[in-house]
Amino acid sequence: MCQENCPYEKRCGACRIGQGTYEEGLAEKQRRVQKGIGKYCRVNKIQGMYYPFHYRNKVHAVFGRMKNAAVAGTYAEGTHELVPIKDCLIEDAQASAIVQTVTELINSFKIWVYNEDTGRGIMRHILIRKGMSTKQIMVVLVTACVEFPHKNNFVSQLRSRHPEITTIVQNVNDQQTTMVLGERNKTLYGAGYIEDVLCGLRFRISPNSFYQVNAAQTQALYKKAIQAAALTGSETVIDTYCGIGTIGMAMASKAGQVIGVELNKQAVRDAKENAKRNNIGNIHFIAADATEYMTEMSENSMRADVIVLDPPRRGSTEEFVHAAAAVAPSRIVYVSCNPETLERDLEWFKKAGYKAKEAWPVDMFPFTDAVEVVTVLYRS
Ligand code: SAH
Repeated sequence: MCQENCPYEKRCGACRIGQGTYEEGLAEKQRRVQKGIGKYCRVNKIQGMYYPFHYRNKVHAVFGRMKNAAVAGTYAEGTHELVPIKDCLIEDAQASAIVQTVTELINSFKIWVYNEDTGRGIMRHILIRKGMSTKQIMVVLVTACVEFPHKNNFVSQLRSRHPEITTIVQNVNDQQTTMVLGERNKTLYGAGYIEDVLCGLRFRISPNSFYQVNAAQTQALYKKAIQAAALTGSETVIDTYCGIGTIGMAMASKAGQVIGVELNKQAVRDAKENAKRNNIGNIHFIAADATEYMTEMSENSMRADVIVLDPPRRGSTEEFVHAAAAVAPSRIVYVSCNPETLERDLEWFKKAGYKAKEAWPVDMFPFTDAVEVVTVLYRS
């Protein structure tokens, strides 16, 4: 039975620790997936984690002021009330320690913390990403303006207290927005990105690129997706919503060719670089909207054998489903992080002639409401 106590549980609301054991949480996720998509296909048993703590390799904290000092924490669920957090049970412990050090440095250098109400101040957020295999660590300091007082001293003190940090980036976010990162990055130390190894492949990850937050479970998830794609070596695969190209690259050695489609230009740059790094010659990447790209393909009488989609939480769109059906794949592998939008999308796919056959839930986010599901669909 997996249970630990969290001192912030009553105020934070970011996870469900304290509301039952890990096993109960898993059973609840299984029920939710079964209820949502059990009517479409067989749902396998959820794959959980052996040790479901400190799994997040991406850690984010927002800075605020309390009792005349800077603190780092998270907004209580659904509010704008900052809950200072020192050690989170689901986040990487090394990353939590770095957040504390950065908060101390902000106080000792007397750097102004950004105030969302007045729009004044400098330091807004911190984002830390860690390559779980490589142990490389990226610290992104999000500031409201380009000016960063005591920058060089700040960076050298941070590095001397945490020699494990491999790169430090300043990200400028001068917009009144709930988005954490702005578009401008300035590398203050190191390469400006980290690398990680996943499914035997080496990936470069930039500050703004999407990368799964739970490395161990991501491998389990991708393994299921590869198995579901049932590739024989000759297929044309389109990996849509491909991010930095992880799923497509993990499939490339089993396919004829892979085309990755992704909207975020920085992620596509990473993806291209990643293909080179891993000597994968049969994959290429396109920076485009996935629906538009597939529509263009079908207008040019191009076909695909397998389509993989891994959309954000809001799921796919009816237009995407029609565009996918128009390139006539014999099977579709849907990697979903939201059973509710998956249910809606499976209905659209059914109407477009694609029936779900089997689903595999994977627990990527223990102690939260989120659950990931790989579903394979066949043309009926
Ligand atoms: N498959 C990747 C990334 C999944 S996250 C992985 O496993 O790491 C979803 C991705 O979809 C994000 O990178 C986002 O930028 C991208 N995206 C969102 N809308 C899109 C669209 N309309 N067309 C193409 N990509 C899109």
